[in-house]
Amino acid sequence: MKYPKRIIPKFPYDEWENGTVVINKEPRRNIALYTKLENSKGYKRTTVSYARYLMSVSLGRKLKTNEHVDHINGDKLDDRIENLQILTPKENNLKAIEENGLGELFLTIRCGTCGNNFERARRNSILVNKFIESNYCSRECAGKRLAPSKILKEYRLDKHLGKYRSGRDYNPDPYTLTWDDVREIRKRFKIWKEDCPSIQELSDEYEISRHTVRSILMGRSWKEPVDNTRIIKYSGKIADIVFNR
Ligand SMILES: [Zn+2]
Repeated sequence: MKYPKRIIPKFPYDEWENGTVVINKEPRRNIALYTKLENSKGYKRTTVSYARYLMSVSLGRKLKTNEHVDHINGDKLDDRIENLQILTPKENNLKAIEENGLGELFLTIRCGTCGNNFERARRNSILVNKFIESNYCSRECAGKRLAPSKILKEYRLDKHLGKYRSGRDYNPDPYTLTWDDVREIRKRFKIWKEDCPSIQELSDEYEISRHTVRSILMGRSWKEPVDNTRIIKYSGKIADIVFNR
């Protein structure tokens, strides 16, 4: 299989004028994308994995951060489209566990800019301290950095257990609880009402243990913040940012 050196980027990367396919030291193929700047000799530049680029072109859309492109046969340089598939970070890690027997630490992080939760391998994260870190869900969000991101959970995928929530089968893409869910659970659990769900039903619906449901209902976990408005200084400007923890 021959791979081109220079390409004219296709949709959805057609905002870029030129691309050069390079092999990094891992080794994997990347594309350096360039656009000549107006009124200047310089270039705007970014890099994207060649496998991601090919998958995006074939799907006709850019991939989300949690869509990892996996080389099915394990050869990271075999970028034929039929050798590529999309996995979640966890599925991708499970595959690595099967191949190398290694479990990896993962973090669930709340993006400080857009507020969405995402998963990232701990080794790919920049840890500032245990709670605040400077990883953002996407390049767009990292460019803005409206507030620090927050680590919600750290866990290890384990070959032997294959699960990290007690009493449940391993779910490669578990649902992450949000404040909206917690408030909804508390609102719905009114034992005097006819349609009050049981703890087991809430546990199944939100993919959390019954113990967690009880902790939420009793206010032992997910304590409501007294004041969730903070003023954050960012590059000399003061921005008012309201964020739910
Ligand atoms: Zn974000």
